[in-house]
Amino acid sequence: MMCDIKSMDLEELTQALSELGEPKFRAGQVFTWLHRGARSFEEMTNLSKQLRARLAAEFTLCPPEVVRKQVSRTDGTIKYLWRLCDGNCVESVVMRYHHGNTVCISSEVGCAMGCAFCASTRGGLVRRLTAGEMVDQVLFSQLDSGLPISNIVLMGIGEPLDNFENVRKFLSLINHPQGMHIGMRHISLSTCGLVPRIRQLAEEDLQLTLSVSLHAPTDAVRSTIIPVNKAYPVSELMAACRDYCQKTGRRISFEYAMIRGVNDSLEQAQALAALLQGMLAHVNLIPLNDVAESPLKPSTRQQVAAFQQALTEKGITATVRRTLGSDIDASCGQLRRKYESKEA
Ligand code: SAH
Repeated sequence: MMCDIKSMDLEELTQALSELGEPKFRAGQVFTWLHRGARSFEEMTNLSKQLRARLAAEFTLCPPEVVRKQVSRTDGTIKYLWRLCDGNCVESVVMRYHHGNTVCISSEVGCAMGCAFCASTRGGLVRRLTAGEMVDQVLFSQLDSGLPISNIVLMGIGEPLDNFENVRKFLSLINHPQGMHIGMRHISLSTCGLVPRIRQLAEEDLQLTLSVSLHAPTDAVRSTIIPVNKAYPVSELMAACRDYCQKTGRRISFEYAMIRGVNDSLEQAQALAALLQGMLAHVNLIPLNDVAESPLKPSTRQQVAAFQQALTEKGITATVRRTLGSDIDASCGQLRRKYESKEA
C-alpha cells in the first residue's frame, strides 16, 4: 500500500524524506504545500522535478472531489458531499456565524452507533476516515467556498471517539502552525458517550470543547434512543463528564434533541437539571430534525420554550440552537443517504 502523506505529521514527514536522502527543511516545504491544498506533487514548484516525481511514486495524494454542493438561500450555509479516494462519500457543512465561519466535518463513512433519530447510522459503519481526509474537509471547504474557516465542529457523519487515534492526529495536524493553525478553543468534538474514550480524551487535556449527546436524563429513555447507553449508562457517563471538567477545566456542552413525547416533558427537564446541578455545563436544545425514515418527530416550539425555561429556573444555562440550512438537508448524513439511495 502506498503511503498516505496527508495524514503524516511534520516529524513523520521529516523521517520519510530523510529516507529519500532529502535535507530536513524539505519536510516543512512539503507540509506547507499539503496544508495549503496542493492537489498534486506537480504543483510543488519549489521542489526539483526529480523529487516531485519521486514523491508521486512513493506517496498517494488524493484530494476529495465535490459531488454535490448546495447553498442555502436563506442563510448562506453550504453543504458539500465529497467523494473520497475509494469512492465513498462524506458530508461537510460550512455555517456562517457572527463569530466566524464554522465547518462541520465527518469523522467516519457511516456510523456504528445506531441512534434511533440519526440518518448517518442507517447503513452502519463503512469505514473510519484518515486524519488527512478530515484535514481535507476543512481545507477544501475553505478553498472551494472562499470563506476563511475559523472554527471546526466534529459533528458530521460518524462517532469521532470511535476513531480516536485518527481524530487525535487530525487535531494535531489542523492545529499545527505550518498547517491551518486552528486553535483548540475553536474546535468542538461531539460524542454519543463512549465513556472510556471520554476518559482517554481527558488525559490529553486539550482545550477543545467537548459536546456530549445526552438527549435524555434517564437510562429508561436514553437506552431506547441511544444504544450505547446500555454499555455506558447515564450515571457512568456523568461521572466521566465530571472528571473531564475537573481535569481540563473546560465546560461541557450537552446536546439535547427535543423529540415529541419522548424526552420533552417538564419532569425530564427537572431530571436533567438535577443531573447537571453544580457542573460546568451548558445545554444545547435542538428541535429534532425530521428524518424521513424515522417515526420520531420534533417537539413543538412551545414545548421547547417551556423545557428551556424549566432548566433556566433551576440555574442551568440552556440555549435553543438556531437551525441553519434546513432548506438543504444540512443535518446529519441526510445528503449522503439521498445520494446513495439514488445511485443504488
Ligand atoms: N456521533 C457524534 C457526532 C455526530 S452527530 C455524536 O453522537 O455526538 C452530531 C449531533 O447531531 C449529535 O448530538 C446527534 O445526536 C445529533 N443528531 C443526530 N440526528 C439528529 C436529528 N435527526 N435531529 C437533531 N439532532 C440530531
